[in-house]
Amino acid sequence: MKTGQVQEVKVILGELKLTTIRDSLEEFLKPAILENLSCLDFLHRLLKKEVTARNAKSLEKRMKQAAFPYQKTIEEFDFGFQVSVTRRQIQQLLDLHWVEKAFNLLFLGPPGVGKTHLAVGLGIRAVELGYHVSFITMDELMRTLKTAEILAKSKRRLKQITTADLVIIDEVGFLPISRPEANLFFQLVSKLYQNTSIIITSNKGFDEWPEFLGDPVIATAILDRLVHNSELFNMTGDSYRLKHRNTILCG
Ligand code: ADP
Ligand code: MG
Repeated sequence: MKTGQVQEVKVILGELKLTTIRDSLEEFLKPAILENLSCLDFLHRLLKKEVTARNAKSLEKRMKQAAFPYQKTIEEFDFGFQVSVTRRQIQQLLDLHWVEKAFNLLFLGPPGVGKTHLAVGLGIRAVELGYHVSFITMDELMRTLKTAEILAKSKRRLKQITTADLVIIDEVGFLPISRPEANLFFQLVSKLYQNTSIIITSNKGFDEWPEFLGDPVIATAILDRLVHNSELFNMTGDSYRLKHRNTILCG
């Protein structure tokens, strides 16, 4: 190996932003020389390493950006405990075709039945398949919308939301919102409508939306857009948290 030439190649690799190959060029060259690899095999191996590293980096970045509250997968979901949603239904969603069609999913039901877990599990799957996902609670979303004009951080977050392929809005209806807030929410839903998939989790049935949104007209307008192309899951049953309560005393 000619050190000078290796250094020159590294500079070029850097200019081409092929940083994985650049940083480990010697490491890749040694076995290739020993194995007497053909030029084509060597090039193939090198480019594959670059692409693999790049994909891993992008996955990690998108996973971080998604801001999931916890990392729970669909595989970890116990469909024996939660029977109002079937494994088959959720499995049909794992190919993420509904995101391509900007379909929405609505998980409604009382606390602890697995609404957020399913939303996060599908979100993780979407990230793994290369999509941009943004998870936000309704409470945080309201704060972000209200401060987007004055805080750079909120503006950035909102940009992430409006450019995502899938937006998960968690805990809609937990806290009542004011009429101006309902208006901001309506504007966002309208903006995302038919371009971006939304997953909503809510402890409120549709009939209760006018009340917590404080305005029946806005509630209807929002629901119209959310429900138009959507799959609705009415989840029932006991709270998984209560059934699987962790305790600290033994015996
Ligand atoms: P919520 O319906 O209130 O959003 P979560 O989805 O956050 O409830 O569930 C509460 C906790 O219980 C989470 O840690 C979640 O992983 C767990 N959990 C809920 N349902 C199930 C289930 N069927 N199988 C496995 N874990 C579950
Ligand atoms: Mg939840």
